Amino acid sequence: MKDLVLRRALVATARMTSHRGLNRGTSGNVSVRCRGGFLVTPSGFPYDAMRPQDVVAMTLDGRATGRLAPSSEWPMHAAVYRARPEAGAVVHVHSEAATALACLRRDLPAFHYMVAAAGSTSVRCTPYATFGTEALAAAAVAALEGRRACLLGNHGQLAFGATLEKALALAVEVEGLCATYLRALSVGEPPLLSDAEMAEVIAKFATYGVARPASSARDRRRASR
Ligand SMILES: [Zn+2]
Repeated sequence: MKDLVLRRALVATARMTSHRGLNRGTSGNVSVRCRGGFLVTPSGFPYDAMRPQDVVAMTLDGRATGRLAPSSEWPMHAAVYRARPEAGAVVHVHSEAATALACLRRDLPAFHYMVAAAGSTSVRCTPYATFGTEALAAAAVAALEGRRACLLGNHGQLAFGATLEKALALAVEVEGLCATYLRALSVGEPPLLSDAEMAEVIAKFATYGVARPASSARDRRRASR
């Protein structure tokens, strides 16, 4: 079987979306770029029963190889890989808080500095489009401009990263931020950070990667001085 290591990693990440509370049932899907295209989770298949051979290999123009049908959202995954050369993996989930905000068709604004983990001053929400369509794929790519995550109107969220680990970590972060934002909104409109304040955070993240600055080895060394 080709790409066995990647297939195993994809299955493990798909299971993690469930174990980390990002998914319900068989909703959501995960993919990873490979030579010649990408590997994607099959359609409507429970992650706990999934084996590496169940993963579907696809070209970027949508030709599939495998015993099972690819996730119905494959056009969205393919569109992200075509538009964003830096995307190595894509995680799409219907996590509760991100989906709640997406159902309000609200962007996640700069209410907290960690919004910068997605690459900019907000996480945009797309208009509504039917699942599995090129229209949804195009809307997601547009909302992702300058960012690594977006909300999908009346649907869920999508995050990508250089690796499966980074894409999953960003999806977890976006879900947590949406939960906090909704909680803050229940009391009032939180004040937003300015573009200058967010630019400072984004510059720090560029130096340290998307990890929280305080967790980097360089910061720990600095702190111990
Ligand atoms: Zn979906």
